[in-house]
Amino acid sequence: MLEAINLHKRYHQGELDVVAVDRFSYRFPAGLTAIVGPSGSGKTTLLNLLAGFDVPSEGEVWLGNTPFSTLSEDARSELRLKHMGFVFQQWNLIPTLTALENVAFPMMLAGIGLKERTARAAALLEAVGLGHRVKHWPNKLSGGEQQRVAIARALALNPPILFADEPTGNLDSASGARVVELLLHQAQEGRTVILVTHDLELARQAERVLRLRDGRLMEIEEAPSKRSAVSSC
Ligand code: ADP
Repeated sequence: MLEAINLHKRYHQGELDVVAVDRFSYRFPAGLTAIVGPSGSGKTTLLNLLAGFDVPSEGEVWLGNTPFSTLSEDARSELRLKHMGFVFQQWNLIPTLTALENVAFPMMLAGIGLKERTARAAALLEAVGLGHRVKHWPNKLSGGEQQRVAIARALALNPPILFADEPTGNLDSASGARVVELLLHQAQEGRTVILVTHDLELARQAERVLRLRDGRLMEIEEAPSKRSAVSSC
């Protein structure tokens, strides 16, 4: 349901024009897609364009039948809230809210009543293995637990698309593996999960890997074994 067509983004750096994303076209299927590339290859810019935080210089992003990137900022925000969840390395939890309140927060913004959002937040925390941490403050949780709360929060409004930007960047390998397992599970449930990472080990877990260099899509590597594993679930 998410498609980039001939996406191009130029930035002006003083006298210079930098092409951050160069004629990128791809239709993202359901499942886990990793975007990899060295620093400066355009991963963050691409994610910002796909999620509508930024607009392309040329080309379009389509969300289903909607020309997402051509909409106003307000319209993009509204669609983003409904259709997209985010798990970022630096996407901090709100420190003055408990784990449960953090997960319930997007539901409050969407106008869901207290009783319903509390029940759903508790179920989401249970699903990420944190049923025993609902009343904890973020600073009483480990880094891995905080990232799992962030995943639960990203799923609060049941978005069909989940973006994860270096989600395991700050975690030890066991906590990182748990986070990846949760992302894979979301992909198996039929979500479109887009993982941006420079960690090739992590990218290998994805069903397909898109390699960027100088803003260009250089290679699409499919992992058939992973694909069949997903479709058999
Ligand atoms: P990555 O996430 O792969 O490290 P980025 O998308 O951050 O790559 O950057 C791609 C290129 O675009 C780099 O050359 C970077 O300097 C440039 N760039 C990114 N954001 C901006 C900006 N806001 N203004 C100017 N240049 C930018």
